[in-house]
Amino acid sequence: MASSVQNNRVSPPGYCGCCRTCNMWCWRAFKWLPVLLIVSIITWSYYAYVIQLCIFTIESTVQQCVYLVLYHVLLIMFAWSYWRTIFAEVKLIPDKYKLPESELEKLLAAESEDAQRNILENFAKELPIVTRTMSGSVRYCNRCVLVKPDRAHHCSICARCVLKMDHHCPWVNNCICFYNYKFFMLFLGYALFYCLFIMATCLPYFIKFWKGDFGTAASAGRYHIVFAFFVALMFAISLGSLFGYHCYLVANNRTTLEAFRAPMFRGGADKNGFSIGAFNNFKEVFGNSPNLWLVPIFTSLGDGCEFPVRREHQLQTFTTAQETHGYESMGTTRSRSDKDEHDTASSKHILEDINAPKIELKSTPIRTN
Ligand SMILES: [Zn+2]
Ligand SMILES: [Zn+2]
Repeated sequence: MASSVQNNRVSPPGYCGCCRTCNMWCWRAFKWLPVLLIVSIITWSYYAYVIQLCIFTIESTVQQCVYLVLYHVLLIMFAWSYWRTIFAEVKLIPDKYKLPESELEKLLAAESEDAQRNILENFAKELPIVTRTMSGSVRYCNRCVLVKPDRAHHCSICARCVLKMDHHCPWVNNCICFYNYKFFMLFLGYALFYCLFIMATCLPYFIKFWKGDFGTAASAGRYHIVFAFFVALMFAISLGSLFGYHCYLVANNRTTLEAFRAPMFRGGADKNGFSIGAFNNFKEVFGNSPNLWLVPIFTSLGDGCEFPVRREHQLQTFTTAQETHGYESMGTTRSRSDKDEHDTASSKHILEDINAPKIELKSTPIRTN
């Protein structure tokens, strides 16, 4: 049993610590290649658009100024959002979710899956979690040795659990999660408009090129403009579909992982379990202040650990029925130990409810690597 929990990494013979450090740095450098590629394409697009199109090709000064101002506004917002997505501080899971040494020893010594499940269930009584594994057990990460907060998942690339994990994005070399989801949405949106703007303003010159009367630009320069149109078109198609999909996810309050596998509550799986209405779902990511919705400044609501849930899931966890389902209602969210103090009778009912095995447990809560 202990072997399923421990995470021993033994180097193969002849594989020294120096090699491991070298490999680690090579892997770290390799992960930045997609970001480097994106930055190179943006730099080239700047040359093609500003130098070749606006300065060498467009003759009207007014047109030059309008194009340059609009282009730079879009570029700044796009680059700012991209920067914030890459370098957002992804904080660690709070300590209260980590299993203390004494509990871990008990878990390692447990002789059955049921015993493990009970140890985790007892520990999680103090935590504000409403989701469970497919088998109905507390969600536990044996690599980080913690009980996963709702919507948190372990990222194998970042090698740790991440709050409200959406997915790991190689193009930003970071996890898209609670701390940078707004930035990621803005990055997709501004990148899409950046591409559409380049397409729209290059289109007349692209048509001229095919008609054969694109004579004013230097021969190499016009190829940059035509190529910029094609590259912008290619990126606009992929960004458009990705941005559209994430708008749908925001409106329904789902992460990409939850779209593939619905979160499991005590009453079963519910893909809309965290949905509190389209506008409230939008505000959960973008915040309450409309002035900051389009600015890559962190304004998402909550702490990334607790989320408002639909009424049917609240009733199974909280002592009082809540009429509103927004963040205003989270004031009544309490850990079970608090509820013990405030409402003994109701808590007793809940504890009985938890102990009753409504869902047949078939698999172990401890995942093996
Ligand atoms: Zn983990
Ligand atoms: Zn990650």
